[in-house]
Amino acid sequence: MKDYVGRFAPSPTGALHLGSLYTAIAGFLDAKSNNGSWLIRIEDIDETRAVPDAAQNIIKTLAIHGLHSDSKIIHQSHRKDRYQQVLERLFKKNALFYCKCSRKQLVEYSHYSGRCRELSLPSEGNAIRLLIEQSSLPGFFDGIQGNIAPQPTEDKNVFDFIVKRRDQFFSYLFSCVIDDIDQKVTHIIRGADILDSTPKQLLLFKHLEASAPKFFHLPLLINENGQKLSKQNLSPAISEATARDNILDVLTLLNQPTPPQNITINQTLDFAISHWNINKIPMRRNLTVDF
Ligand code: GLU
Repeated sequence: MKDYVGRFAPSPTGALHLGSLYTAIAGFLDAKSNNGSWLIRIEDIDETRAVPDAAQNIIKTLAIHGLHSDSKIIHQSHRKDRYQQVLERLFKKNALFYCKCSRKQLVEYSHYSGRCRELSLPSEGNAIRLLIEQSSLPGFFDGIQGNIAPQPTEDKNVFDFIVKRRDQFFSYLFSCVIDDIDQKVTHIIRGADILDSTPKQLLLFKHLEASAPKFFHLPLLINENGQKLSKQNLSPAISEATARDNILDVLTLLNQPTPPQNITINQTLDFAISHWNINKIPMRRNLTVDF
């Protein structure tokens, strides 16, 4: 078994943009510089948001940038039976409860009381949440952001996260942990937008008696208006015609040395692997870029 297994887990809601290429390249370089393997996983569990052909296009764009998965690419939409199996295991441990609160109600309660915990509701029409005591939420050491303590709050909704929605879709926070366990992922490099969810995911690793990977949360790329570079904000798709320049832009954002001119994409990646130093990535939550 490899001592290092990293992964890139895009949600196929649109074309690859600079923010996702930056996450992919950081994970790839860290894995390869540690003689590890690097996997691509398609997080299409929310089929209401998945865009047709987006997964194939993302995989193709990554390949044009020299980024290939070291093992078969899995799609979360094919793994629902596995998620259901884990769900049943957690029910047996009394770790889950049914919740009837609609999204609208949750917005209305400024301090959600967690009242559904006590109601023993039936399964029909209700979501399933993981019961989380605030005091049980772990802090952790992040390889880029340093020591992270869970944020105290009165709002239990922040903690009791949804595992399965009332429309029967599993949540990303849940399926992602199961995949990371099953794929024996040891290192997770992803955007700092998920940093606050990590203590909840760590608790799930604990419930499932699995050792947790090491986490590295990259500064989130934001535009001048403070918006995250994301498909929702209509960040432009990266051009495949400028693949080498895109990699150079990402290396600059990651604060890594600039490779020589006039070399191929693969030579550029090899240079970046041999010069990779994760400690040079700025320790901050956000990084403003022009795009
Ligand atoms: N699928 C998530 C996204 O595209 C990434 C989750 C993760 O890396 O853990 O934002």
